[in-house]
Amino acid sequence: PVVTRFAPSPTGFLHIGGARTALFNWLYARHHGGRALLRIEDTDRKRSTPEAIDAILDGLAWLGLEWDGDVVFQSERGARHVEVAEQLLVAGHAYKCYATPEELEEMRAAQRAAKQPLRYDGRWRDRDPADAPLGAPYVLRLRTPAEGETVIEDRVQGRVTVRNEELDDYILLRADGTPTYMLAVVVDDHDMGVTHVIRGDDHLNNAFRQLPIYRAMGWAEPVYAHIPLIHGSDGAKLSKRHGALGAETYRDEFGILPEALFNYLLRLGWGHGDREEITREEAIALFDLEGVGKSPSRFDLKKLQNLNGHYIREADDARLAKLVAHRIGTHADEALLARAMPVLKTRARDLDELAEGAAFLFKSRPLTLTDKARALLDDDARAILAQVADHLRAEKNWTIEPLEATTKALADELGLGLGKLAQPMRAALTGTTTSPGIFDVLVLLGREEALARIDAQAT
Ligand code: GLU
Repeated sequence: PVVTRFAPSPTGFLHIGGARTALFNWLYARHHGGRALLRIEDTDRKRSTPEAIDAILDGLAWLGLEWDGDVVFQSERGARHVEVAEQLLVAGHAYKCYATPEELEEMRAAQRAAKQPLRYDGRWRDRDPADAPLGAPYVLRLRTPAEGETVIEDRVQGRVTVRNEELDDYILLRADGTPTYMLAVVVDDHDMGVTHVIRGDDHLNNAFRQLPIYRAMGWAEPVYAHIPLIHGSDGAKLSKRHGALGAETYRDEFGILPEALFNYLLRLGWGHGDREEITREEAIALFDLEGVGKSPSRFDLKKLQNLNGHYIREADDARLAKLVAHRIGTHADEALLARAMPVLKTRARDLDELAEGAAFLFKSRPLTLTDKARALLDDDARAILAQVADHLRAEKNWTIEPLEATTKALADELGLGLGKLAQPMRAALTGTTTSPGIFDVLVLLGREEALARIDAQAT
């Protein structure tokens, strides 16, 4: 059975790249009827914060990515990591290195001078530990294979080969006895039964360093899938300016719905023909690693907003009303918003645009007019409004069709186009020059409020 994991380091928020990695792991497991696990890699105690952990959990929950089993905290597994390191030592796959920091600095200076790669030179690899001064501090290093090559059949990158001489004997346990990240990842992945490691391709090099531990321990190796990073729209590495922001920023500041971000992240580096709109259920049915592209994908906020517009139109009106009411504040009437939603949501691309579109509903009289609206309401327009008010007041059935018929009849009588009536009506009713259809506006405001607003501008 397939077991995947998402293993964020809680040093920041759940940014776009991390969220996509989480999604791909989650989808792969769901598609194959397997398990998707979550591990918080909080061994760097100085840089990991509880706020970041909360933000990550919160962001994942918002996206609807629920995980199987308990969340694993890497920091709680130190004893197990040390245990494995000691097994590696006993079996001869690891060794004690007594090189002092000064000595290693000298080594690197010489490598730098000779324009060689900076790498531990294995000076204690074959040395007798008895050579070390009694009680001297040491680190534990992995004895990586010296010859031959290591091949990874990566499910995204294809076959990747590294010559083993390029692998360094890296540290497993520090001088203070604490395990390193590289060791912890392998031990945790093994103990959690992870079968597929799906992560950013910035970790591809690590895979070559991690595999020797699996082999030394005789553990089953995972399938690797290293997905290309996300770039900005200009092709450069994704930065804050490009949208490398936390999921909560998309939710709170950009007014994005979770299903829109879900769909957008899915399409960011994975494709199924040229389909853009793919629901969660379809994604689970369709997702596989074959569809993950090899080149970096570009983050495009416009595309995300367009998808968001699509999901807004699909979304339940009561749900949208709640979200929009939350953005507008305490004076927003959720029931009224829900009734307005069908006309508001036809054009909006995010929750803020919905809130802006709904603003006219909650204005108090006298309405503040935009400059354009004020300019529209000249003497002629105000005179027309007086007639409009008279005719509408006579209309007993305050619904779209009769209101429209009445207004049209008046326009005909005056020998004017409907726009000549509708424009000043819009200015008077909403204080602006853009709004949903004017008869929708009349009905949503209700007879009393609508007439009062028109009267206030009529002469
Ligand atoms: N914790 C690592 C990160 O956040 C991921 C490690 C992994 O996926 O192997 O970049």
